[in-house]
Amino acid sequence: MELNKKLKYLSERDQLTDLYNRHKMNEEIRKHYYNFKRYGRPFSLLMVDIDKFKKINDTYGHMVGDEVLKKLAKILVKNIRKTDIASRWVGEEFLILLSETDLEQAIEVAEKIRKTIEKESFPKDIRITVSIGVDSVENHEHIKDLLILVDEKLYKAKESGRNRVEY
Ligand code: GH3
Ligand code: MG
Ligand code: MG
Repeated sequence: MELNKKLKYLSERDQLTDLYNRHKMNEEIRKHYYNFKRYGRPFSLLMVDIDKFKKINDTYGHMVGDEVLKKLAKILVKNIRKTDIASRWVGEEFLILLSETDLEQAIEVAEKIRKTIEKESFPKDIRITVSIGVDSVENHEHIKDLLILVDEKLYKAKESGRNRVEY
């Protein structure tokens, strides 16, 4: 790979999962936001967080935990469209942008992802569940509010018992 391309690639990606990193995701959210403001094209966000992931690290070790994160990243990518974007937001939290997608459709995608992960087997036969917060740009005036709200919804999903989608 040409050096400039390689540098660009490295600056945009999370090393472990190969997904977009937070920096690149923020840029993508901004782009989609301007597109929404100008052309009214909606998009939605899913904040996906592994339930009780600390326990998996404690039980199986960090290396196995890493393998679980890698596999989860692949599952997420497989379950969204080519025009959607998955990113590693922080630690065991993944932020997904669904383009041209309103809240109702986003909830469906989130449920599909939640159910798929629940059924999947991970390294060492580990089973995991995820909690997902969902929100759409249509409900918010600013990107910051959208990010805060999608996080609050994730928190609500955790509080309500985990392995849930909240919107
Ligand atoms: P909750 O259901 O409330 O989300 O519980 P949790 O245990 O998933 O949440 P908590 O925030 O307490 O712990 C997150 C854990 O994720 C702790 C941290 O060690 C682990 N983690 C974060 N990044 C990585 C990583 O890159 N690799 C591994 N193996 N673990 C990670
Ligand atoms: Mg967690
Ligand atoms: Mg977390």
